Amino acid sequence: MKPFTDILQNTEYSHDELVSLLNAEGNDRQLLFQKAQSVKLSTIGNKVYFRGLVEFSNICTKDCLYCGIRKSNEKVIRYEATDEEILEACQFAWKNRFGSVVLQSGEISSPAFVKRVDLLLRKIKEISNGELGITLSCGEQTIETYRQWRENGAHRYLLRIESSNPEVYRKIHPKNDFHSFDRRLQALKDLKATGYQLGTGVMIGLPFQAIEDLADDLLFFKQIDVDMVGMGPYIEHEDTPLYKFRKTIKTKQERFDLALKMVATLRLLMPDINIAAATALQAIDPAGREKALTIGANILMPNLTPCDYRKEYQLYEDKPCLDEDAELCRNCLEARIELSGCEIGYGEWGDSKHFLK
Ligand code: SAH
Ligand code: SF4
Repeated sequence: MKPFTDILQNTEYSHDELVSLLNAEGNDRQLLFQKAQSVKLSTIGNKVYFRGLVEFSNICTKDCLYCGIRKSNEKVIRYEATDEEILEACQFAWKNRFGSVVLQSGEISSPAFVKRVDLLLRKIKEISNGELGITLSCGEQTIETYRQWRENGAHRYLLRIESSNPEVYRKIHPKNDFHSFDRRLQALKDLKATGYQLGTGVMIGLPFQAIEDLADDLLFFKQIDVDMVGMGPYIEHEDTPLYKFRKTIKTKQERFDLALKMVATLRLLMPDINIAAATALQAIDPAGREKALTIGANILMPNLTPCDYRKEYQLYEDKPCLDEDAELCRNCLEARIELSGCEIGYGEWGDSKHFLK
């Protein structure tokens, strides 16, 4: 195996070299972060793009074993934001020159839901003079639905593979066709085929997941040629089946640190893609997202979900900013981003250079 400093000079990385980067400690870890920062600055610059996040419904037909809003969690009060509430949040994003929004929800595939999203897409384009970019994150759908939403104005889609190791995937989902790895993979292929800028990602520090799996996750992103990655630490939720494994996993701090190393290593592996500073980082460290921005990430998703709904969209414990309204959130972010030495790309869609290529 090459010395660590030689690996850092690579432009291609083997599985074992990625494992070395993810295992970096002490001085090596600092060198990795410095290198990722310099690759980011020389490839895509220091701009951070905002995507206003609207979690418009927590109704979900799936039962992922890690997720707080899974169908079987009866403690959650289910909501669906009204069109007016959603459009108001999008209007806020547009007026504040956020460039684009992400509409996220539980997974529903009913014709009524598909149609509702169609209408919302058209209305968002209408109220923003066609200027707001729209990312969807509404789970697995048929290729026809993806095509229809694409035609109505969505141009990016975020669907995490959660873990690219089918064995790990199987252990964190119920065992049925509705939660199958192959179905998720097919959905990613369908999204690509229908012309979306494709975003995926994984949870870091899951039960049953090894460092080697995370190295494979990074190679998976490269292999499917993604334009955007959003990945963050797995955070246990008391009302989920996976909670019982909490004693078997890394500490929150270790998961956080590993997530930062994943971001930095991915920046070396795919220098020109968009990488989000995941909200889950902030659930462990208040300055978690800004730390990710300084070592490789370039996308931030300020939460624009109406405050009354936020406490019912707790995918994991300690989800931050439960009671901060959008205005407060924006002010707080601006200050933090300046501190991290980045500049906000106001009014720009911020498409990845990778996609534009
Ligand atoms: N229903 C859609 C989008 C909402 S869930 C979907 O599943 O694709 C969005 C993301 O939240 C998931 O992809 C998952 O990676 C993340 N998530 C869910 N539970 C989590 C947990 N306990 N810790 C960290 N991230 C979690
Ligand atoms: Fe539903 Fe997404 Fe949570 Fe799975 S991760 S239960 S699909 S909201």
